[in-house]
Amino acid sequence: MTVEGNQAHYLAKVMRVGAGDAVILCDDLTGEWAARVVSASKRDVVLQPIELLREREPVPDVWLCPALLKRDRFDLVLEKATELGVRRIQPLVTRRCVADKLNLERARAIVTEAAEQCARTALPELGEPVKLDAMLGDWPKDRTLFFADELGGEPAAGAFAAHSGAAALLVGPEGGFDDAERAAIRAHPAARPVSLGPRILRGETAAIAATALWMAAAGDWHK
Ligand code: SAM
Repeated sequence: MTVEGNQAHYLAKVMRVGAGDAVILCDDLTGEWAARVVSASKRDVVLQPIELLREREPVPDVWLCPALLKRDRFDLVLEKATELGVRRIQPLVTRRCVADKLNLERARAIVTEAAEQCARTALPELGEPVKLDAMLGDWPKDRTLFFADELGGEPAAGAFAAHSGAAALLVGPEGGFDDAERAAIRAHPAARPVSLGPRILRGETAAIAATALWMAAAGDWHK
């Protein structure tokens, strides 16, 4: 197996691995392996997998669909959603978003580092930012879209606990959804408005809180 690009540079130049050294390899396909370095240069590092240490973990079937926020706040959402265990992060562009672009390579690096930090053997999928109406128009029929709405909805914990099957958590930007967006979401057959309590949470707080609540009520925290 050959590692290239930033990871090769990191292994060869930062970690200074050399031929014969032992490393832990996670391929996001089969799981985590003990491996040996065959050769190392700043361009590529050749690894020989030796022993499967952990199989790729099963990941709860929940997506997080957070509206783009200011960069440092969205970095937090990427990191925490990965740590908490989502299967997919689908960034959204809505009319009140302060940012409408995401540096995907940088976002992937944040997600990968967060996965390493929390010893995940499965990386969350990271979608390209998509406009709300396009996402709603192309929404998979079998996936419930829990819409975090500060204007009210079912208490989230109960709604999550009672749910079985594929799900997603939709969270708005700093300025919230505008009336037309809220109406379009609420009219969508897969949408279920949920409340995260009486206080108006910041976008990143709502995204992290909804995900943690999901994992506790319907995810893998009880395993
Ligand atoms: N529109 C609001 C305002 O400025 O008055 C604030 C939006 S809030 C900062 C960002 C997003 O977090 C909302 O669009 C919603 O998805 C979620 N959110 C915040 N507080 C919530 C609550 N108590 N219940 C459900 N969702 C909440």
